[in-house]
Amino acid sequence: MSTPQPIFDGHNDTLLSIHLDHQDGGALFLNGPTPGHIDLPRARAGGLIGGLYAIYPPAPKDSPESAARFGLKITENGYVTQLKSAVDPDYARVLTDDVITTLHELERNGDGQVQIVRSYDDLVHNLENDVHSIVLHFEDAAAIKADLSNLDAYYANGLRSIGLVWSRPNAFGCGVPFEFPNSPDIGPGLTDAGKALVQACNRLGILIDMAHLNEKGFWDVAEISDAPLVVSHTGVHAICPSTRDLTDAQIDAVGQSNGLIGIMFSPSQLRPDGNPEADVELSVLVDHIEYVANRIGIDHIALGSDFDGAKMPQALSDAAMLPNLIHTLEDRGYGPEPIEKIAYRNWFRVLKETWHAG
Ligand SMILES: [Zn+2]
Repeated sequence: MSTPQPIFDGHNDTLLSIHLDHQDGGALFLNGPTPGHIDLPRARAGGLIGGLYAIYPPAPKDSPESAARFGLKITENGYVTQLKSAVDPDYARVLTDDVITTLHELERNGDGQVQIVRSYDDLVHNLENDVHSIVLHFEDAAAIKADLSNLDAYYANGLRSIGLVWSRPNAFGCGVPFEFPNSPDIGPGLTDAGKALVQACNRLGILIDMAHLNEKGFWDVAEISDAPLVVSHTGVHAICPSTRDLTDAQIDAVGQSNGLIGIMFSPSQLRPDGNPEADVELSVLVDHIEYVANRIGIDHIALGSDFDGAKMPQALSDAAMLPNLIHTLEDRGYGPEPIEKIAYRNWFRVLKETWHAG
C-alpha cells in the first residue's frame, strides 16, 4: 500500500469524546478503534498527521439545550433554530481544565506518538517523524475570563488557537444560529472584551478562528486583527446558503489577508438544498473547495472536517477514508502540488505566520 497523502485538518471534536466517553487517559484513542471518527490507527491509515483539536463546552447534560434538535424547526425550504444561550463561564472553565488534563495524559501515554504542538518547528518535526500533531483549540472562548486574566496561563498550557464563539453568545461576541437559507448577518458584533481578545491573540501569537461567528463579528476581526484571517470549518454561502457558510465578500477578505478557509465535511453546510439529514457526494465538497480556489487562489483553501462534531458523508465516514477525498480532487484535475497545499501546506503556512513567537 502506498503512503497516503499527509493531511492536516482544521477542526475536530475528538478531545471531548476522549474525555467524556472513553475516560481511559487516551488509551482507546491510541490503540483504536473508538466508536468515533478519529483514533490514531485510523488517522495513520488515512494520512491524517494532525489538526486543530477543539475543546468545546456543550450545553450541560441536564439542560434542554443539550438535545441535538433543540429549537430546530423545519420550514418550507429549509430550517430555522433558536439561538442557544451562553454557557456559564465557571462551568466552561472546569470542563476545559479537565479536558486539558486528559490531553496531557494522552500525550504522556502516547509515548512520543502524539504531541501537543507549541510551535511551527514542532509541526515540521512531527511530520518528518510520524508523530501526530495536536493543536489545542478552544471552540467558544467561554473559559477565558472577560478581563483576559487567565489567557497567558492557557497559552503556557499549550493553547494555540481560539474560536471566538460557537453558535451562541459569550462575553466576546455572538455566533450564528444554524439556519437555511439565511444570511450570516444575525446579531451584534464583538464586545469590547472581544476586541481586546483579538488584540491579545495577535500579541501572543494565538490563531483566531472565525467559524460560527456572525457577520458583524467577522468584520470586526477583519478590521482589528493583524494576522491572516482564518475560518477553520465552514462552506461557501453561494453554494449552500446556510448561516454557517461564508459570503463572497467574506471569502474575498480572507484572501486579501493571506488567510485560509477550511471546508467542512458536514452535509448540512455543503448541500445546495440545505437538507440537514441527508448524505452528500464528495464532488459537492470539491465544488466548495473549487469555488474558493477559483475566487481567491489555491493558497487559501484547506480542510476542516468537523470529525466527531458533525454527521459525516458516507464516503468520508472516518479518518481512514480521507484518501477518498484526495482521489476526488485528483478526478477533478488537481495535481500533486495544489493537493499538497489543500491537504496541509496552507495550514502550515498560516500557522507559521500566526505563531510568530515560535
Ligand atoms: Zn463547530
